Amino acid sequence: MEIKSILAAIDDLAHFSQGDRGVTRLAFSDEDQAARQYIERLMGEAGLTVRTDPFGNLIGRLEGTDPKAPAVVTGSHLDTVPEGGKYDGVLGVIGGLAAVKRLSHEGPLTHPLEVVAFAAEESSRFSHATMGSKAMTGTANLIAWAKARDEQGISLAEALARRGIDLGRVKEAVRSRDEIKAFLELHIEQGPVLERTGNKIGIVEAIAAPTRLKIIVEGTAGHSGATPMEARQDALVSAAMIILAVQEIALERHHQGTVGTVGVLRVHPNAMNVIPGRVEMGVDIRGVNHESIIETIQDLKDEVSSIADSQETPVAIEVTASETPVALDEELIEICEAVCRELDVPYKFMNSGAGHDAMNMAAVVPSAMILIPCRDGLSHNPEEYVDAADIMQGIDVLTEVLRRLAQ
Ligand SMILES: [Zn+2]
Repeated sequence: MEIKSILAAIDDLAHFSQGDRGVTRLAFSDEDQAARQYIERLMGEAGLTVRTDPFGNLIGRLEGTDPKAPAVVTGSHLDTVPEGGKYDGVLGVIGGLAAVKRLSHEGPLTHPLEVVAFAAEESSRFSHATMGSKAMTGTANLIAWAKARDEQGISLAEALARRGIDLGRVKEAVRSRDEIKAFLELHIEQGPVLERTGNKIGIVEAIAAPTRLKIIVEGTAGHSGATPMEARQDALVSAAMIILAVQEIALERHHQGTVGTVGVLRVHPNAMNVIPGRVEMGVDIRGVNHESIIETIQDLKDEVSSIADSQETPVAIEVTASETPVALDEELIEICEAVCRELDVPYKFMNSGAGHDAMNMAAVVPSAMILIPCRDGLSHNPEEYVDAADIMQGIDVLTEVLRRLAQ
């Protein structure tokens, strides 16, 4: 599976899309199913034994010479965000398959090799991210999953049932630690750092974890013409001050890799002639330094309460998600570095600001991530683009790392 067929497979997958602006292939949709069937066929042609686990993770396996040896696993996901790009996730599945295919031509290694296409990595459809790897590692919140619905009101259980999967049996997807020796995920960077620094490989040391806050600002709705300026409690004005505070506080800690974003704003009643009486805000704070995240949130809480006091708009803060950053395996990181040196590929140690299946796998088995540059750092965007030479270099590195682990 060399350069032409790898690029052709990436292009083929991009056609399994709803609509033609970018790639829209939501988890467990018909397009997703078609993409999985396509990969299943490629896995079969490559001589892998293919199975689908009880959550719909697609697993292709090449046996090693030692039947008792744990598998060396690589892979990523096939689902996308609405109007996403064609490389996010796909690169790690096609690239993983290409690497395993290369190794298979050289004769069997000691350990089995597996390529996994994880189900439902993106949170776009059911508001839960990296579901397939959570199912595989036994870290799924099944109570929350039982309530999950998409925008059409279809429950996760119904969407799974359409694919012949029983949500009640998800626990059977859990794999034991002794089955897997290591997990490696090849992925596009989804940021501009590699391109800016002229590096071709990013070796991930830690994956950032999101803390999410819901902030509700209560003001007093009133007539936009008849209420004097000095007599207002405008919830949106306070919200605007909070947005600036998030930016300022996160900027103070940017050297620790912490970032803060207000990505959601719901204004009530959201009418041109009414002073906003209530605003709901969604804040996403991320980083790889847990202490820095905690300090950021504390500073933000202090600042928000002083804004609430000065503007006379009471504020409620609720922490809706709080995950701990994940450090990847040191030994695997060293192997990735040694391979980059040997292949003479410029590399950089970095953190991943985006979440990935590797962070769930890392909780159970030694895991690592190899990133390659994407043009202008763009991802989750139809303009997402990756240079063919960079793809091949990523696959070269992945192949060598897998070889060292599996021999
Ligand atoms: Zn991805």
